Amino acid sequence: MTGEALVCLRCGTSHAADERLCPDCGLPLVPAGGGEAEVTPAQAWARKVKPSYAVGDLVRVVTARNLVEAEFIQSLLLEEGIPSTLRRTAGFDVPEMLAAGPRDVMVPLSGLQAAREMLLEVELLSTSERAESPLRLAGWLLVAVSVVGAVVWGGTELLT
Ligand SMILES: [Zn+2]
Repeated sequence: MTGEALVCLRCGTSHAADERLCPDCGLPLVPAGGGEAEVTPAQAWARKVKPSYAVGDLVRVVTARNLVEAEFIQSLLLEEGIPSTLRRTAGFDVPEMLAAGPRDVMVPLSGLQAAREMLLEVELLSTSERAESPLRLAGWLLVAVSVVGAVVWGGTELLT
């Protein structure tokens, strides 16, 4: 019974509860036996995936700085029909529960090219991996603006 607690979203094969990805498709497994009348978020997700992008070994397309950025990238990829999973970047021993710490965004090999092109298009992937990501720069800009704003506001307060 407990041996087939999960099913693959794409091919529908049953898998043991301790597996996380379908060995054939590389897609996340979901609990079996959910309501069939309603479309679950997982099913909606599966319908967006283009099967031609879901073939091959998982490869890293980009490293996100944290879980929030990683999930944002995943949602962008999904809009293009590219399935993805996250892996904690090697060398960062942060407890799994924490949202902090970089994540590798992994896509099937057949979706890698499309994923790269899409991420380049939205400037999330620099041609040089070492360059600062635009998201990071935007974050720092926001911080700078709010700090300057606070200082100006505080200064006004002192003058009155
Ligand atoms: Zn499968």
